[in-house]
Amino acid sequence: MTSHTSTPLFDEQPYERSFKATIIEKCDNLLGFDRTLFYPVGGGQQGDVGYLTQTNGNRTRIVDTFRDDTNRSLIWHRLGEGHEGLRVGDAIVAELDWSARYLNMKMHTCLHLLCSLIDAPVTGCSIGQGKGRLDFDLPETTLTKEQITESLNALIADRIEVETRLISPNEYDTALALVRNRYALPPRSANAVKMIEVRGIDIQPCGGTHVRNTAEIDRVVCEKIEKKGRQNRRIGLRFVD
Ligand SMILES: [Zn+2]
Repeated sequence: MTSHTSTPLFDEQPYERSFKATIIEKCDNLLGFDRTLFYPVGGGQQGDVGYLTQTNGNRTRIVDTFRDDTNRSLIWHRLGEGHEGLRVGDAIVAELDWSARYLNMKMHTCLHLLCSLIDAPVTGCSIGQGKGRLDFDLPETTLTKEQITESLNALIADRIEVETRLISPNEYDTALALVRNRYALPPRSANAVKMIEVRGIDIQPCGGTHVRNTAEIDRVVCEKIEKKGRQNRRIGLRFVD
């Protein structure tokens, strides 16, 4: 176990696409940096992918990002082929696959809008490749797919601001009492916890990445409402091409 920490740049700079960092941990094809813009898989959102460039110009693909199992402050980047010669202490430049990340930011924010339409606790979440779904602890949905589609696109067209605010761990305890969506809780060990508010619509502590305004979200369609057990309804969305 290591005590190393990767500063999560994605929390405060979700629109930045590249960054410089130093390698602080290495284990086979896994690298830990002192800072990173790459979001580690969590809360249903996929880990970021992209590229790493060494000072000699060698370029290597980063195929996954995740937190260390025991030291949750350390973020690992899994490398693709051709990662020879990288050492702890090396300086690197890394760049996000922005189209994949931005799609995740848009869908993640869209799922906050979906939360605001359904009055039930969220028990699961999945986001990736322009699709997203939430599981609700709910015996029956009163809304149809068409109604959900219409309401979501109306909220997107309303150009609602999405605010990110950092709160202290004490405030977090109070905020937790209000939370319906326990799938994407930010790490409790943090000095500050990220609160996301889609103004007047939804407020949650959330560790994911979000857009600044609902106007950025693409037109969406509610693809299905599935029955997953007596007390569970799964609602799936995808962006219209
Ligand atoms: Zn979120």
